[in-house]
Amino acid sequence: MDFPLLDLLDEGACYDFLVDALHPAGLRCPSCGGRRYLVHRAHREPVLDYRCGCGRVFNAWTGTAFQGTQRSPAALVVIVRGIAQGTPTAQLARELGVRVGQLRTWRLEFEKEAVTGIAKPDRSAAEDLEQLRRENAKLKMEIEISKKAAIYFAREAK
Ligand SMILES: [Zn+2]
Repeated sequence: MDFPLLDLLDEGACYDFLVDALHPAGLRCPSCGGRRYLVHRAHREPVLDYRCGCGRVFNAWTGTAFQGTQRSPAALVVIVRGIAQGTPTAQLARELGVRVGQLRTWRLEFEKEAVTGIAKPDRSAAEDLEQLRRENAKLKMEIEISKKAAIYFAREAK
Protein backbone atom coordinates (compact mmCIF):
# COMPACT_ATOMS: atom_id res chain seq x y z
CA MET A 1 0.00 0.00 0.00
CA ASP A 2 1.00 3.61 -0.47
CA PHE A 3 1.68 5.55 2.65
CA PRO A 4 0.25 9.09 2.32
CA LEU A 5 3.04 10.61 4.38
CA LEU A 6 2.55 14.07 2.89
CA ASP A 7 -1.06 14.18 4.09
CA LEU A 8 -0.04 13.16 7.58
CA LEU A 9 2.33 16.03 8.09
CA ASP A 10 1.41 19.41 9.49
CA GLU A 11 2.75 22.15 7.21
CA GLY A 12 3.41 24.59 10.05
CA ALA A 13 5.40 22.07 12.06
CA CYS A 14 7.37 21.09 8.97
CA TYR A 15 8.15 24.73 8.20
CA ASP A 16 9.38 25.34 11.76
CA PHE A 17 11.50 22.21 11.60
CA LEU A 18 13.14 23.29 8.34
CA VAL A 19 13.76 26.88 9.48
CA ASP A 20 15.44 25.45 12.55
CA ALA A 21 17.55 23.05 10.53
CA LEU A 22 18.54 25.61 7.89
CA HIS A 23 19.07 28.52 10.28
CA PRO A 24 20.14 27.05 13.63
CA ALA A 25 21.20 30.49 14.92
CA GLY A 26 17.90 32.04 13.81
CA LEU A 27 16.77 33.52 10.52
CA ARG A 28 18.77 36.58 9.44
CA CYS A 29 18.63 38.88 6.45
CA PRO A 30 20.90 37.35 3.77
CA SER A 31 22.07 40.83 2.70
CA CYS A 32 22.92 42.64 5.93
CA GLY A 33 22.71 39.80 8.47
CA GLY A 34 20.18 41.79 10.48
CA ARG A 35 17.11 40.60 12.28
CA ARG A 36 15.01 43.72 11.84
CA TYR A 37 12.65 42.42 9.20
CA LEU A 38 8.88 42.36 8.91
CA VAL A 39 6.50 40.06 7.11
CA HIS A 40 6.28 41.26 3.53
CA ARG A 41 3.92 38.70 2.03
CA ALA A 42 2.14 35.69 3.47
CA HIS A 43 0.60 34.35 0.27
CA ARG A 44 2.35 31.00 0.68
CA GLU A 45 1.84 30.45 4.38
CA PRO A 46 3.46 29.06 6.44
CA VAL A 47 6.36 30.14 4.18
CA LEU A 48 6.57 33.88 4.79
CA ASP A 49 8.34 36.49 2.70
CA TYR A 50 10.15 39.07 4.82
CA ARG A 51 11.34 42.57 4.04
CA CYS A 52 14.42 43.72 5.91
CA GLY A 53 15.13 47.29 7.02
CA CYS A 54 17.88 47.28 4.36
CA GLY A 55 15.26 46.70 1.65
CA ARG A 56 16.02 43.04 0.95
CA VAL A 57 13.04 40.74 0.48
CA PHE A 58 13.74 37.12 1.38
CA ASN A 59 12.30 33.97 2.90
CA ALA A 60 13.67 31.05 4.87
CA TRP A 61 14.74 29.28 1.67
CA THR A 62 16.79 32.21 0.31
CA GLY A 63 20.43 31.24 0.05
CA THR A 64 19.71 27.57 0.81
CA ALA A 65 19.28 24.54 -1.40
CA PHE A 66 15.53 25.23 -1.40
CA GLN A 67 15.76 28.71 -2.85
CA GLY A 68 12.94 29.24 -5.34
CA THR A 69 11.19 25.96 -4.58
CA GLN A 70 7.41 25.86 -4.81
CA ARG A 71 7.18 22.64 -2.83
CA SER A 72 5.34 22.60 0.48
CA PRO A 73 7.32 22.37 3.74
CA ALA A 74 5.91 18.87 4.32
CA ALA A 75 7.21 17.71 0.94
CA LEU A 76 10.61 19.24 1.71
CA VAL A 77 10.73 17.50 5.11
CA VAL A 78 10.02 14.15 3.51
CA ILE A 79 12.82 14.83 1.03
CA VAL A 80 15.22 15.83 3.81
CA ARG A 81 14.32 12.74 5.83
CA GLY A 82 14.83 10.54 2.81
CA ILE A 83 18.24 12.05 2.17
CA ALA A 84 19.18 11.90 5.87
CA GLN A 85 18.16 8.26 6.06
CA GLY A 86 20.19 7.43 2.98
CA THR A 87 17.27 6.36 0.80
CA PRO A 88 18.65 5.78 -2.71
CA THR A 89 18.10 8.83 -4.92
CA ALA A 90 16.22 6.93 -7.62
CA GLN A 91 13.82 5.39 -5.10
CA LEU A 92 13.20 8.71 -3.37
CA ALA A 93 12.59 10.38 -6.72
CA ARG A 94 9.99 7.74 -7.61
CA GLU A 95 8.26 7.93 -4.22
CA LEU A 96 8.07 11.70 -4.16
CA GLY A 97 7.57 12.44 -7.84
CA VAL A 98 10.74 14.56 -7.92
CA ARG A 99 13.21 14.54 -10.79
CA VAL A 100 16.35 12.51 -10.03
CA GLY A 101 18.56 15.42 -11.14
CA GLN A 102 16.86 17.79 -8.71
CA LEU A 103 17.25 15.31 -5.86
CA ARG A 104 20.94 14.82 -6.64
CA THR A 105 21.43 18.57 -6.50
CA TRP A 106 19.68 18.76 -3.15
CA ARG A 107 21.62 15.82 -1.78
CA LEU A 108 24.91 17.51 -2.66
CA GLU A 109 23.73 20.80 -1.15
CA PHE A 110 22.75 19.06 2.05
CA GLU A 111 26.04 17.25 2.29
CA LYS A 112 27.73 20.64 1.98
CA GLU A 113 25.50 22.40 4.49
CA ALA A 114 25.23 19.42 6.81
CA VAL A 115 21.64 20.50 7.26
CA THR A 116 20.78 17.03 8.52
CA GLY A 117 22.76 17.61 11.71
CA ILE A 118 25.92 15.75 10.70
CA ALA A 119 28.63 16.83 13.12
CA LYS A 120 31.04 19.55 12.10
CA PRO A 121 34.59 19.61 13.49
CA ASP A 122 35.60 22.06 16.27
CA ARG A 123 32.26 22.37 17.87
CA SER A 124 31.64 24.94 20.55
CA ALA A 125 29.32 24.33 23.49
CA ALA A 126 26.77 26.59 21.83
CA GLU A 127 26.92 24.45 18.72
CA ASP A 128 26.51 21.32 20.81
CA LEU A 129 23.43 22.86 22.36
CA GLU A 130 22.09 23.77 18.94
CA GLN A 131 22.69 20.23 17.78
CA LEU A 132 20.81 18.87 20.77
CA ARG A 133 17.98 21.28 20.16
CA ARG A 134 17.81 20.22 16.53
CA GLU A 135 17.88 16.55 17.42
CA ASN A 136 15.16 17.16 19.96
CA ALA A 137 13.04 18.94 17.37
CA LYS A 138 13.65 16.12 14.94
CA LEU A 139 12.69 13.55 17.54
CA LYS A 140 9.52 15.45 18.38
CA MET A 141 8.70 15.46 14.70
CA GLU A 142 9.33 11.72 14.39
CA ILE A 143 7.03 11.13 17.34
CA GLU A 144 4.40 13.36 15.76
CA ILE A 145 4.65 11.47 12.48
CA SER A 146 4.46 8.14 14.31
CA LYS A 147 1.39 9.30 16.21
CA LYS A 148 -0.31 10.34 13.01
CA ALA A 149 0.72 7.10 11.36
CA ALA A 150 -0.74 5.17 14.29
CA ILE A 151 -4.02 7.04 13.95
CA TYR A 152 -3.99 6.35 10.24
CA PHE A 153 -3.43 2.65 10.77
CA ALA A 154 -6.06 2.52 13.49
CA ARG A 155 -8.58 3.93 11.02
CA GLU A 156 -7.39 1.63 8.28
CA ALA A 157 -7.88 -1.45 10.47
CA LYS A 158 -11.62 -0.82 10.96
ZN1 LIG B 1 18.93 43.39 5.55
